[in-house]
Amino acid sequence: YLPCSHRSSQPYFTSWVMHCTERTFVAIKPDGVHRALIGRTIARLEDKGYSLVALKLLKPSRTLAESHYESLRSKPFFDNLVSFITSGPVCAMVWEGKDVVAQVRKLIGNTDPLSSAPGTIRGDFGIDIGRNIIHGSDNISNAEREIQLWFHSEELVEWNPNLHEWIYE
Ligand code: ADP
Repeated sequence: YLPCSHRSSQPYFTSWVMHCTERTFVAIKPDGVHRALIGRTIARLEDKGYSLVALKLLKPSRTLAESHYESLRSKPFFDNLVSFITSGPVCAMVWEGKDVVAQVRKLIGNTDPLSSAPGTIRGDFGIDIGRNIIHGSDNISNAEREIQLWFHSEELVEWNPNLHEWIYE
């Protein structure tokens, strides 16, 4: 992973460079993929101003799904959750930008779609907690852990979106 300061020496990018290093892991779960919500989900994150760094469609292995949800291993819904995620396909992504971890969680909404505000992804598209469409890392250290779990470093694409001077002051 290249630090942002290595990506551009142009002054326009100075401010963006200070903020652009934060990354989060986002996954559209099998229900979101089957319901054809990939495009609309990506559009919301692009519309906010965030940049896509990596994207792939896959059927996760049991090992991957269990590692991803490791902290929930003792929960009664763990086996169902892992079976559901491994049924695939999952659209796995890495997004980048200022405060992206917390902001993506806000755009996604609460874990239970029925308690999610209209305007959020889960609030607009979901009903049941076990079919809540999308995952977003809940803090920066989990984001780093999940990105490493789902992606090889060479799958993360370094680029300078030329919209950034119009999004970051
Ligand atoms: P979030 O995805 O909002 O970070 P958690 O990490 O607590 O929420 O849970 C991971 C996923 O496990 C949820 O998105 C949801 O799909 C599932 N889940 C959480 N709680 C329940 C529950 N009580 N019953 C069934 N599934 C649940």
